[in-house]
Amino acid sequence: MTRLPAHDILFTPMQIGPKTAKNRFYQVPHCNGGGYRDPSAVAEMRRTKAEGGWGVIFTEQTEIHPSSEITPFIEQHLWDDRDIPALARMAEAMKSHGALAGIQLAYSGINGPNLYSREVPLAVTGGPILTFTADPVQARTMDREDIRNLRRWFRNAFRRSQQAGFDLICLYGAHGFGILQHFLSRATNQRSDEYGGSLTNRSRFLREVIEDMRDTTKGELAVTLRMSLHEAGAYGFSNAELRDFIEMHGNLPDLWDLAHGTWESCSGTSRFTPEGAQEDLVKGIKALTPKPVVGVGRFTSPDAMARQIRAGILDFIGAARPSIADPFLPKKVEEGRYEDIRECIGCNICVSGDMTQGISRCTQNTAFMEEWRKGWHPERARPRGASESVLIVGAGPTGLEAALQAARRGYRVALAEAGTTLGGRVARERNLPGLSAWGRVADYRIGQLARMANVEIYRNSPLTPGDILATGADHVAVATGAIWRRDAVARLHLHPIPTDPAMPLFTPDDLMDGKAPEGLTVAIYDDDHFYMGSVLAELLVAKGNRVHFITPAAKAAEWTENTLEQRTIMRRLLESGVDVHLNKSPETIGRDELTLACTWTGRLTALPAEAVVLVTSRTPDDQLYHATRALDWQGAGIRSLKLIGDAAAPGPIAWATYAGRNWAEGLDQPDPGDALTFRREIAALDSGPGLLP
Ligand code: ADP
Ligand code: SF4
Repeated sequence: MTRLPAHDILFTPMQIGPKTAKNRFYQVPHCNGGGYRDPSAVAEMRRTKAEGGWGVIFTEQTEIHPSSEITPFIEQHLWDDRDIPALARMAEAMKSHGALAGIQLAYSGINGPNLYSREVPLAVTGGPILTFTADPVQARTMDREDIRNLRRWFRNAFRRSQQAGFDLICLYGAHGFGILQHFLSRATNQRSDEYGGSLTNRSRFLREVIEDMRDTTKGELAVTLRMSLHEAGAYGFSNAELRDFIEMHGNLPDLWDLAHGTWESCSGTSRFTPEGAQEDLVKGIKALTPKPVVGVGRFTSPDAMARQIRAGILDFIGAARPSIADPFLPKKVEEGRYEDIRECIGCNICVSGDMTQGISRCTQNTAFMEEWRKGWHPERARPRGASESVLIVGAGPTGLEAALQAARRGYRVALAEAGTTLGGRVARERNLPGLSAWGRVADYRIGQLARMANVEIYRNSPLTPGDILATGADHVAVATGAIWRRDAVARLHLHPIPTDPAMPLFTPDDLMDGKAPEGLTVAIYDDDHFYMGSVLAELLVAKGNRVHFITPAAKAAEWTENTLEQRTIMRRLLESGVDVHLNKSPETIGRDELTLACTWTGRLTALPAEAVVLVTSRTPDDQLYHATRALDWQGAGIRSLKLIGDAAAPGPIAWATYAGRNWAEGLDQPDPGDALTFRREIAALDSGPGLLP
């Protein structure tokens, strides 16, 4: 395998101020849900990117002072010298394979509610805090002394970053989150002093801070500026104004790091945003500055990346999600191993880890954030134990990942699938509107398995308990998936609701089987709250139905707040003529109408409908497992028999791939008993007394 000459351009080194990046693969700052709570887990995650060949690797946002913090979201802290060791561990990990290590410094201003530090938030212009969580807190307008203090806090952070061993400092302005952009934007800067008004005045703070940075670090570190390409609305920092700013200050930072607009548009999902979506906004900016430009666009295609550079649009290919899904993307391109690239599917499950303050996971890269916690690696698996063979029943995301990881460990793998197509739910969901990229979950794994000598795949093989016993495998995993319920049981209704059999009833499985109603008035009841209800609404509209979308929640597709999709979903539902009924749920389903109850008052209303689609919850398909368990499987030589993935507990696809890996990693491992199955860090207790006597 050799690399195509067209991709050589991606491997030419490039200078960033006093530093030189070995190639054009630039991991832009990204959150991970671990932050200050899980320093070693984050450091090890960054180390795999270094090993995978990224030329530049950044931390997530690092808060420089307690007067601006974004609790409940868990990012990094650099509040005093005690934060240096954790960040030094990160810098050391990033630099382990010749990458440049970068730290993103953040002061959130109008975006930091300070729920933890309890400090009064300071903003360029005071007003209500602008966060996802609508905290009932206002920020105070900074006076000149505050601005002097903030410059000093930045200088402290520069010194500490240098002490921690970083090469690059990124000043965070983008996504509406960082105070540097707040100074620039007329929406968030309504000052009348020398820091407000003209663009020259609005950029004064930025000039001062960058001068302070060069002074503090004696010009030894490079400074990058992360800005939004376009803030919507008349008072935002528009693309035109950004271009004016860059033209005026072309030499200000050592690199321009340009991100779409809001985080929502910058991290658009594949359902709504194609690869390379910010091209029009960034095109031509390189001509305004002698400094390199990095941009993002969920780039997974080396052709698209090389084109961006050859066409003079970008100098560096910025990536957050593609680097999460495949930390080894640069190495694979470098070595011409194109078929091994594990492409991001653009589902934003990684983002949801930050939004829910859990720890991020990735649908495609099951090792993400488990590198230190569990010792998992995105490319390698631990060698196999004493036993030799495994059987996996069901080739959905769970079964495919289980098979791949067991095969990597060196087991002889048999994968049996009842149908002709591999991929399970993904093979079906990829055909739904906007979800075609999700097929990569199956494609990547099928491609890998096909090239492994120790793997046999049996299609059209609906196994029975007898078949399982007859295989004589050492370990068996049953990954037979789940089926959507047709009785409305989910979160609100824990028991089936009265339903007239005369009403045509459909589940997502029916629609995916091609049995969608056409030209009718259809009521979708969504008590799932993720993507499926709204995706099916789009499908039904396309089939000429008049669609009512009913949810007991206060928002359509409420959980998609965590994947940054909710507002787009709501807008699209309304724009496509769907009637959205919030805070409602059906009490009964009659022959030609639903009786809806208001979730607050219980008040009943009738909604005429000719068909109903229930997007509620799923029943695990675990009969095969239980029937096999009832036999003498141990007598047949099977050492372990496990139920995994959706067949055990239905969840998002990322939960399924994780379950597959978790099973494969556990083969021949000692029973942990009551011990924790992952590593964690516990805060060191401070020996001193409280501040008061
Ligand atoms: P998961 O998300 O856990 O992988 P899926 O529903 O996507 O679950 O996949 C389950 C797969 O298992 C489907 O492709 C289904 O055809 C297959 N399957 C179900 N029962 C059997 C069986 N008895 N033998 C072989 N394959 C089965
Ligand atoms: Fe891409 Fe989804 Fe993985 Fe995030 S979770 S990196 S969007 S595949």
